[in-house]
Amino acid sequence: MTKSEELFHEAVTLIPGGVNSPVRAFGSIGGTPRFIDHAQGAYMTDVDGITYLDFIGSWGPMILGHNHPQILKSVEEACKKGLSYGAATEKEVIMARLICEIVPSIEMVRMVNSGTEAVMSAVRVARGYTGRNKIVKFMGCYHGHSDAMLVKAGSGVMTSGIPDSAGVPAGCTQDTLSANYNDLDSVKELFSKFGQEIAAVIVEPVGANMGVVPPKPGFLEGLRAICTKYGALLIFDEVITGFRLGIDGAQGYYGVQSDLTTFGKIIGAGMPVGAYGGRKEIMRQVSPVGNVYQAGTLSGNPVAMAAGITQLTILRDHPQIYRELNEKGDWFFGKLKKMIEDAGKSWQVNHVGSLGCIFFTDQHVTDYASAKTSDTVKFAEYFHYMLDHQIHLGPSQFEAMFLSAAHTKEELKEVLSVIKSYMNR
Ligand SMILES: *Cc1c(COP(=O)(O)O)cnc(C)c1O
Repeated sequence: MTKSEELFHEAVTLIPGGVNSPVRAFGSIGGTPRFIDHAQGAYMTDVDGITYLDFIGSWGPMILGHNHPQILKSVEEACKKGLSYGAATEKEVIMARLICEIVPSIEMVRMVNSGTEAVMSAVRVARGYTGRNKIVKFMGCYHGHSDAMLVKAGSGVMTSGIPDSAGVPAGCTQDTLSANYNDLDSVKELFSKFGQEIAAVIVEPVGANMGVVPPKPGFLEGLRAICTKYGALLIFDEVITGFRLGIDGAQGYYGVQSDLTTFGKIIGAGMPVGAYGGRKEIMRQVSPVGNVYQAGTLSGNPVAMAAGITQLTILRDHPQIYRELNEKGDWFFGKLKKMIEDAGKSWQVNHVGSLGCIFFTDQHVTDYASAKTSDTVKFAEYFHYMLDHQIHLGPSQFEAMFLSAAHTKEELKEVLSVIKSYMNR
């Protein structure tokens, strides 16, 4: 037995599924999850001493690679000053100033501890601000695990949402309406029926939790126009895209402004951090100024703020990081696509900048229904082939490959040659 196998064996007796977040359990692909001991740059090493080229990157936060020396140093320095006070700190002001300067649509921001919390809070603010209850979300978009967001689909877009998880009362999702990603007509249909009751439309500006599904030209602009027309708020869930597609996220990349934005992942540089923000008039609804209640004992934690501030500052001060990263993504996923075509396979490659994935289907993937046509058994085989060659992908068809500034073209060429050998085996 490997050390990972031993640990997993015990973990499943102590933790549900042996993991603290379901995707880590290798449930959809089989096999034993690798227990990681340490990581550096583009690599992580498991407890058996095997080193993998890492394309999870903590699901995004490691955009600069693992263990970045400046981030590490700022965390060490913050630790020495005490881990938490439960009182206001200068770092929170610095972080808020940074975010408001970087993201034009944000004038005021509140820090929380996860993406889930950011979304849950933003939705509450949207409801408080508009005095309306209904929320439109898109099938296949993930917005964390709060009750109202655990809806994939109602039975057809015209019905109220049916909970996607046990333990979520139907009452919690009855105001969640589902639309099809990249399908403005499905949104218009909902608005024509419920227009005056809809508080907000929440969307991943690039779908990155059903594999990678870019927005079609005009989709985000269309959502903006519909929300404005009906007085609903547009919420961009930029937990993955924020500070990744560019310093100002998907809203900068596509030039469409949201009313509220949620962040997580990159914003904490690997520490548990989330945030939500928007215009002042909206954010002034939040307690203690307004009457939308939201709080957090560890929110704005000084050690977490130190990590996040350092990472965001590096990203802001070095715009070439994004140029290079997006160029590298275009190059890598472009080569991948060509290689797959040349091999006579009909698989799809979707990507935006440094996010991308292969779908094992001959259909173009533009929404949840087409994403689901992917052959997940084939994905499992591909995943394990890559893992055997010390390349650690996200263990699910419906996760993105995250490229970081630490991945070199040489390493990516090696990945392409392993995928080629997979196709030719
Ligand atoms: C990961 C993710 C979340 C949830 O963030 P957590 O920090 O895991 O709670 C929300 N929205 C999107 C788009 C995500 O990718």
